[in-house]
Amino acid sequence: MKSCPICRNDKLDTLYEAERVPIMQNLLYPSYEEAKEIKTADIVLTQCRTCGFVFNSTFIPDMIQYDQSYDNEQGHSSFFSHHVDSVIDIITTNFSFDATIVEIGTGKGDFFEKLLLQGFNNIHGFDPAYEGNNPKITKEYFNINHKDIDADLIILRHTL
Ligand SMILES: [Zn+2]
Repeated sequence: MKSCPICRNDKLDTLYEAERVPIMQNLLYPSYEEAKEIKTADIVLTQCRTCGFVFNSTFIPDMIQYDQSYDNEQGHSSFFSHHVDSVIDIITTNFSFDATIVEIGTGKGDFFEKLLLQGFNNIHGFDPAYEGNNPKITKEYFNINHKDIDADLIILRHTL
């Protein structure tokens, strides 16, 4: 790609390059050997001088294929579960149960639900891909329409 996908300007700067990066994350393979055979591609993070947009100028969308090996669920990892519990402990230690909490990018709402179970009741979640039915989670991006929420804590987990 030789021009900005947003404004079509061709004055671009290379910010970062990496070779042979796995094209997908969250793939679960039956063996170490198969995992080592994952498809890779180069990354060239490029910034448009006009609008500032940063993108991978070598990205080929057709290379991305979701199949049965895709699994972004991390809950079955005892290490990850321990990490989540330690983050909950930090929040419980530092915030009262009536604190106003915003979680941006709730995913399936697992972390959000853990906070509710702890006793936090003034929580607002946002995620356009949320598939559950908790009315406290809004199925959209956090945006200017939610600026009146006077949050004591904003949680951003795995949203970048
Ligand atoms: Zn641009």
